[in-house]
Amino acid sequence: CAPAAALNDSPGPLPDHADIDAWDIKDRHSISEHLPTDPYPDTAAHYSTAAQWLKRPAEEIIAEIDAAGLQGLGGAAFPTARKWQFTRAAQGEPRTVICNADESEPGTFKDRHLLEHAPHLVIEGILIGAAVIGARQGIIYLRHEYQRARAAITKALNKARADGVLGSDAIGPGHDFDIELFISPGGYILGEETALLEALEDRRGEPRHKPPFPTTAGLHGGPTLINNVETLAAVSTILARGASWWREQGIGEHAGLKYVSVSGDVKNPQVLCLPWGTTVAEAIEHCGGMADNRDLLAFSPGGASTPFLPASAAQTPMTFDDLRQAGSGLGTGALFVVGTGRNLAEVLLGQARFFRNESCGKCVPCRVGSNKGVELADAALNHQPNAIDAELAELHQTLMRTSICGLGQVALLPLVDGLKRFPDEPSLQPLRGQTPEAD
Ligand code: NAD
Ligand code: SF4
Repeated sequence: CAPAAALNDSPGPLPDHADIDAWDIKDRHSISEHLPTDPYPDTAAHYSTAAQWLKRPAEEIIAEIDAAGLQGLGGAAFPTARKWQFTRAAQGEPRTVICNADESEPGTFKDRHLLEHAPHLVIEGILIGAAVIGARQGIIYLRHEYQRARAAITKALNKARADGVLGSDAIGPGHDFDIELFISPGGYILGEETALLEALEDRRGEPRHKPPFPTTAGLHGGPTLINNVETLAAVSTILARGASWWREQGIGEHAGLKYVSVSGDVKNPQVLCLPWGTTVAEAIEHCGGMADNRDLLAFSPGGASTPFLPASAAQTPMTFDDLRQAGSGLGTGALFVVGTGRNLAEVLLGQARFFRNESCGKCVPCRVGSNKGVELADAALNHQPNAIDAELAELHQTLMRTSICGLGQVALLPLVDGLKRFPDEPSLQPLRGQTPEAD
């Protein structure tokens, strides 16, 4: 089966078996003694994990996920077992499981890989989640540009229906269950879980205030379990192989496996499946090292909302806790690598522009403040140096305190944090009112 490195090749035909075969990463084993061999369940046993676990009490399923220590892999790290428990305990109808496959964080493409190559594993996670919370319907909410993933999911859903895995009595006598594929109307904010609910309810896709959380009041007001693609695939894997196996896959005290998307100045940008605890430097090494003879200048470990760290932090393990302590975050596991010779200020401004452009406009501070921040930085960088660092920091604080959702809270964070963390970076000097020295 294809090594993960082949993922970035131009799209070819779908594999005959768009399933967990493609997760076999034996061919990269030689790269690192830490890389696991064949971590995913036996391909011949489609949905055998669900068949086996659906006979057991829901509490046992939740306990196994809890024992594995699984946290939400969409970026927020909320304990998965706790979310399942909350949704199971919540009263009301309708009860729904939603797989959030609207992967849109810049630099993030790990879910695309899973959807194209392991859709059965994701469907199995949804099915098990449905049994636990007593759902009658499941929804895969897919990013509209993901055409290959759409084809792979459609094929897998049709096969699951033909095999009787979905449909009448799917979760036991009298408990029908099927999964609908819903294509996101588009736009980054439509992947925010409550904006997603609004879109599914045929309204303008703007985030809702939380609480209440979807666990208690989600789609059409009913308890709704919303999990990321990778989280659901991990649930199937944990239940197939056991929580202790999962915990053993990490390095040292770290548990489990993590898919990361690596892009930027590395020789072979790609999706990697890594043991928790792998360092940033090792991930770069797995991608063939730095490209174009550049040295590492900075990296953002988890998407556009996680601040850049300097090269000196490259030995940090890629875990939620370690990267938080280092001053950034694992986020979506989107490692974006910037080499020497690049204009870091332009990279940071590009991120702020992205959030400004994607703001839904519901909150005035986010709508107005993100634009003001971009215009200030753009003018200082590209027209007249201007000491705006304090003004940007204050603007960021306002957005942090007053924005409804995460977008407004992080819109200016990488730029403001970069100004603090990279005091000697020449490209940032115009934002401090200084003209950068000519080379
Ligand atoms: P959040 O911390 O508000 O919530 C995380 C999850 O836990 C949500 O599902 C939420 O409903 C649930 N939750 C939190 N507290 C709860 C409680 N008390 N009871 C029940 N459920 C509770 O984060 P968020 O705003 O949903 O997501 C932010 C993250 O999304 C960021 O960390 C970012 O990395 C990630 N993100 C991912 C993408 C992507 O493309 N994958 C895009 C944008 C952002
Ligand atoms: Fe919309 Fe920004 Fe408010 Fe989020 S913070 S709801 S993106 S305006």
